[in-house]
Amino acid sequence: MCSTMPEPPGASPVRAVRAATHGNPSVGEPVITRKPEDPVIPRTHETGSAPNQADSVEVIIVGAGPLGIELSVALTQAGVSHVLFDAGQLGNSITTWPRETPFFSTSERVAISGVPIQNTHQGRITGEDYLAYLRAVVEQFDLAPRLHEPVVQIDRDEVGFAITTHPVTGGSLRTTCRSLVLACGNMDRPHRVDVPGEDLPHVSHYFTDPHRYFQQRVLIVGGKNSAVEAALRCWRAGARVTLSYRRDTFHQRRVKAHLLPDLETQVKLGTIGYLPRTVPVSIEAGQVTLVGTEEDGMPSVAAGDPSEHRLVHPTDFVLLCTGFEADMGLFEQAGVTLEGPNRVPVFDPETMETDAPGVFVCGTAAAGTQSRYTLFIENTHVHVGRIVRHLTGAWPERLGTIAARDYEPPFSHIEAN
Ligand SMILES: Cc1cc2nc3c(=O)[nH]c(=O)nc-3n(C[C@H](O)[C@H](O)[C@H](O)COP(=O)(O)OP(=O)(O)OC[C@H]3O[C@@H](n4cnc5c(N)ncnc54)[C@H](O)[C@@H]3O)c2cc1C
Repeated sequence: MCSTMPEPPGASPVRAVRAATHGNPSVGEPVITRKPEDPVIPRTHETGSAPNQADSVEVIIVGAGPLGIELSVALTQAGVSHVLFDAGQLGNSITTWPRETPFFSTSERVAISGVPIQNTHQGRITGEDYLAYLRAVVEQFDLAPRLHEPVVQIDRDEVGFAITTHPVTGGSLRTTCRSLVLACGNMDRPHRVDVPGEDLPHVSHYFTDPHRYFQQRVLIVGGKNSAVEAALRCWRAGARVTLSYRRDTFHQRRVKAHLLPDLETQVKLGTIGYLPRTVPVSIEAGQVTLVGTEEDGMPSVAAGDPSEHRLVHPTDFVLLCTGFEADMGLFEQAGVTLEGPNRVPVFDPETMETDAPGVFVCGTAAAGTQSRYTLFIENTHVHVGRIVRHLTGAWPERLGTIAARDYEPPFSHIEAN
């Protein structure tokens, strides 16, 4: 997890041909790595010929989240040619967090590539702070990620893979590589509740800003951290909030410790409405129809049944805080076996190589859909180390937090959000 972390035994021999990080090398051909005194080729939008527009590289990384960026830094430092793609902007999945949401992880645990996170208050940083930090890391290491360029197709060719992307300027581009790293996270799409009206304009799966709900009635569906946090923030911002949860009580360990007593107090005072043991069965403009649930949280009446047990709840907005799921489509295209209901990719934990040769998984994508969070930024830095060691024979110069703060948190110390 860090620069001084002893390399676990069994390091693989050097396998990769080291090539220039900048330039346009042919696969397998050794090329001259840029020396410090060489001029940096300027990246200009005018020419459209950014140096990372190589059409053939050693490694392609899909996903410029924290772990994809950390891997790009490590490969740059090892002199391995690569391209880092993201479907959106850097840290794309963090851009969907509610405004000003602090990490539950302390800052030294989410730092990458040995670059410290410092702030004036020594408290947890917000998603916005972290995006600024990621931008700084990319600039510091002179990375050139190809942003707003989703990877849409993966094909195998004679030497490795041919990747098709859709750049923001239109059309399709192909890039080939020997090794492919899928660092594409696992929060691609909201977990749908599958009821009529779910896609109406006043319904959202994303809580981005409580301001939207000022002096509005909002029904929030869910009972884990995101729903509880949204309920408290919307209420404090001046919304009239009701929370619907399919169980009686909230899960102590799945809601941040300081939020639960706060919510319980508001529910007791009646300032936040609470509809325990309910689920929505249909959403219309101005109202939501809910039914009761059994002990296991499942609806007690079939969706189509007319029943006097239905509750029609008037509301202006509906916020469905029901979690997210991974899109494992790229893994399927690459021939990776996915196991179980969470579609967890099969991989070798020593190298992070999947059962599709040459395809690696890095970061939270390694857990498939996380119905219960087990992988975070802080316990996946090590994936970067394993991949780099396998490709180059050497553990990266530095991972995770700064050298002076080296530590390996035991898994039991890492709390779920
Ligand atoms: C409110 C909230 C709070 C959280 N707090 C914490 C916390 O305190 N600590 C913590 O460790 N985690 C936290 N998380 C989870 C955190 O967001 C993830 O742990 C982290 O982003 C995972 O990093 P990653 O690099 O594995 O994946 P991601 O950050 O999800 O990055 C994956 C990237 O892949 C890109 N991508 C996907 N498909 C394609 C494609 N086809 N082509 C190109 N690019 C693609 C995506 O656009 C995305 O940028 C929180 C999440 C939420 C919602």
